Amino acid sequence: MINKAINKEDKNNDKDDFHNNQKSSLIVKDLHVEVEGKEILKGINLIFHSGKVHALMGPNGSGKSTLAQALMGHPKYKITKGKILLDGKDITQEKTNLRAQAGLFLSFQYPAEINGVTISNFLRTAVKAVLKKDYNVLEFHKLLKEKMELLHMDHSFCKRYLNYGFSGGEKKRAEILQMLLLEPKYALLDETDSGLDVDALKAVADSINAARKISKAGMIVITHYNRFLEYFSPDEVSVLYQGKVVAQGGYELAKKIEKEGFKGIIKDEQENDNLNNKEK
Ligand code: ADP
Ligand code: MG
Repeated sequence: MINKAINKEDKNNDKDDFHNNQKSSLIVKDLHVEVEGKEILKGINLIFHSGKVHALMGPNGSGKSTLAQALMGHPKYKITKGKILLDGKDITQEKTNLRAQAGLFLSFQYPAEINGVTISNFLRTAVKAVLKKDYNVLEFHKLLKEKMELLHMDHSFCKRYLNYGFSGGEKKRAEILQMLLLEPKYALLDETDSGLDVDALKAVADSINAARKISKAGMIVITHYNRFLEYFSPDEVSVLYQGKVVAQGGYELAKKIEKEGFKGIIKDEQENDNLNNKEK
């Protein structure tokens, strides 16, 4: 009985969180995540809004990809505590396909190569699975052509096998094309800039900006570098370190990191830790 009462109160809090925020929000509450028995995320609190760009930064190994995978529901990333709320709905325990249907999209840091499956066929299948829209081949080609033109992609691209022999930039643009077709509410872009040369970086950033113009999606851009963020001027910047959010701010925070590296921010955090330990 007591448990029930607590649960009820908890649910009301979730609703308040949602109503106190903008219409569409993705809320991460005290999220703890384990990978192979080891706790990687140690109580993440974050709020993402539709139509906004939220940059997630932090040194290697700080838990950014883990957060992206946990949000998407990858079975290897076990949520041991906390919640994920999409537009007020608790999706913490949902399967990945249901999260995709509810409007989450993850662009992988390392997209897989699939020989023998054309981009066009792959995307048609993805649209059918996620949006439950069953286009015939001709209809789908028309739609695909439209979206590819928006991204200034050559139409021959969609006849190639998925990511097979693609350059780094082409793989990332194929991901952005997929995002455009799936019309997510929230798109997680995990190091979409990694391994790209300057020209490819610009081409990918231009594609993301083109997608932003026609989509109201909230974009969660995971990156190490302000160089990539310069193309978007993010509305918010959060820094992860050792599985926690250690700093939050506006775009100026990314600029500060570019100048000073992560050291300054992390040093503050370590000093705080030491202080807390002493107080204990
Ligand atoms: P980031 O994306 O910020 O570089 P990750 O989320 O990839 O960080 O990694 C955070 C920590 O979790 C690292 O210590 C990493 O070794 C560990 N980790 C992440 N994914 C796995 C996995 N699939 N198996 C084992 N350890 C993992
Ligand atoms: Mg990563």
